[in-house]
Amino acid sequence: MPFSLISTQQQRSLALARKKSHQKLMRQLATLPARKVDERFHSAHEEAFAEIDCLSCANCCRTTSPLFREADIRRLARHLRIKEAELVAQYLHRDEDGDWVLRQAPCPFLGTDNHCSVYAERPLACRAYPHTDRKQMQGILTLTLKNAEICPAVFRILEQLVAEASA
Ligand code: SF4
Ligand code: SF4
Repeated sequence: MPFSLISTQQQRSLALARKKSHQKLMRQLATLPARKVDERFHSAHEEAFAEIDCLSCANCCRTTSPLFREADIRRLARHLRIKEAELVAQYLHRDEDGDWVLRQAPCPFLGTDNHCSVYAERPLACRAYPHTDRKQMQGILTLTLKNAEICPAVFRILEQLVAEASA
């Protein structure tokens, strides 16, 4: 089955079944030089996204919310031609950390064809997800482990890094 076509529940089950191996990997990665860890992630990220089609997946948009910075709210409200307060009232609430997040999942801007209806103006967090091509990956190893339960690309990246670590 292609990585991009499994359900949200299947993805979670897969990640949970491999969690111990992935946790071991994270412990190994935490001891390596930061640059080496970034290189490994970035190379596996490129390979994963060369094969995975996000439009066949959209698990992230269906299950989690991006954080909305003030700049994201401003830009999206302008795009939707509504007031920022209206956007907040209609779509957002503060989470336990005080950040603005979506009130509901799936994201209200996700279309039935998995296209994002506000793609050009989507929040920065949406653009950056699943964060496996950023610098200083060692700072988000725990988050990345969690993201493997949602994102088939992250799962695939971790599987590749496990294989490389035991080669
Ligand atoms: S704004 Fe677009 S990219 Fe971001 S979660 Fe919603 S549908 Fe997905
Ligand atoms: S980023 Fe991951 S979870 Fe989101 S659509 Fe792409 S493969 Fe799926």
